[in-house]
Parts: sequence; C-alpha cells; structure tokens
Amino acid sequence: MNPYILAETNWKTLGNAEIDLAILPWGATEAHNFHLPYSTDNIETERIVGEAARMASEKGSKIIVLPGIPYGVNTGQLDIRVNININPSTQFAILKDITDVLNRHSIHKLLIVNGHGGNDFKQMIRELGVSYSEMFIATCNWYQAVDQNEFFEEGGGHADEMETSLMLYLAPELLLPLDQAGKGVAKKFRVKALNEKWAWSERKWSKVTADTGIGDPSKATREKGERFFNAVTHKLSELIIELASAGINDMYV
Ligand SMILES: [Zn+2]
Repeated sequence: MNPYILAETNWKTLGNAEIDLAILPWGATEAHNFHLPYSTDNIETERIVGEAARMASEKGSKIIVLPGIPYGVNTGQLDIRVNININPSTQFAILKDITDVLNRHSIHKLLIVNGHGGNDFKQMIRELGVSYSEMFIATCNWYQAVDQNEFFEEGGGHADEMETSLMLYLAPELLLPLDQAGKGVAKKFRVKALNEKWAWSERKWSKVTADTGIGDPSKATREKGERFFNAVTHKLSELIIELASAGINDMYV
C-alpha cells in the first residue's frame, strides 16, 4: 500500500496528513493502431505518475495521486469504433468538481498530468482561477518532458515507436505482435500553415490514417521504452518535488 496513492490508502492512514499537492493523471480510451490496447494512454500515464510520485514521496514531498480519468477529448474520432469521447465542457465540469473538493480540504495545489493529445487544460485552468483564487493548478504533458528524438528513430505522436516501446516495457502482455501493427502512415493537410503548426485545426482522424496510428512503430523495443520511462519519470518527479514545496504566494523570482 502506497500512502501517497489515494486509491490505495484509507481514511485511517490519510487522517489529517498534510498534503501539499494533488496529482491527477488524465488519459483517454481510444484505438492505438492495430496492436496497442485502448487503455494505452491510461496505462502509460498512471504508471509514469506512480513512479514519479514514488520518487518524490521518498524525497519527502507531501503529495496525493488521485485516481486517473480514463476518458479524454476524442471529438475528431467519433467514427472510430468505441473510442469514448467526452466533450471539453464535460471535462471542464469534472475538473471543476475535483478542484472544488481539493479546495474544501485545503489542498491548494493541483498538477494535471496529461497523456492524450486531445486533452487541453490550459483554458480550463484560467477559468478555474477565476472561481478558485486560492488554488494553484498546473498541467503538463508527460510526452513532452524530454526530447523524444534522443530515444526514438521515428516520430509520429500516436501509437508510434515511443508509445509502442513504452507499452512493451510496461504491459507487454496487452500487445499484439509487432508484425500485426499498421505502418502508422499519416496524411498531411493541403493547407501549408496547418502543417507548419502555427495555424491549427482539428484533424479528422479517420481521414488522416487508415490504422489509427500516426508514426511507424516497427523499430520499437522494450529497452527504448525503459530508457524513456526512466527519463520521463525522473523529470516529472523533479516537477512534483518543486511544486509540492512551492509557496502559492511566492511563485516568482
Ligand atoms: Zn496514446
């Protein structure tokens, strides 16, 4: 039993323990090419958060990891079989209710650790700040914590070499053999600025990729996944340690 994991602890252990920072993992339930499970984002995110929290807790951080939210914003994938979409307004409502509980119990710092590209908490955090002025809420995307180019040969972003390597390390029993994976070939927009990323529009996923993957997973290995996991969890633990000890009224130098 890890006392810093809310799902594992109990009322007696929790008691009136001081908690400086709550951590909320947020994933998605969606197809990941042919070979990875629908829960890929949830497994990755919860395992990364769990390990980073363990390291931070060992160094004295007073933290609590909340149960992860397994559904994300999948508005561009409504036609992909049983991808579960929750709308951004629903996501905001869930986040607001969780924030309200934390605020009532004087846990005034919250870190949302996101593992799904369709989730975007920035504007929600701005709006929550209007209603909950005592709260400090931060968000991070774990997949951006370190430079993926230092670990993987092929990029992509969805069910790619990175995600496949990570899952080979974390939950190999849930993967189909790699020779059954699609190539993760993705079409680009016809509009140049949208590919340059300074203009943005949502991608209609099923028109972009035939196997739901974006990025070739064929060079994935367990060893690459382990190296990446260790780098990401180390970096995330540093963020957790810093946020846990930071004073809400002393955030700037
Ligand atoms: Zn994913």
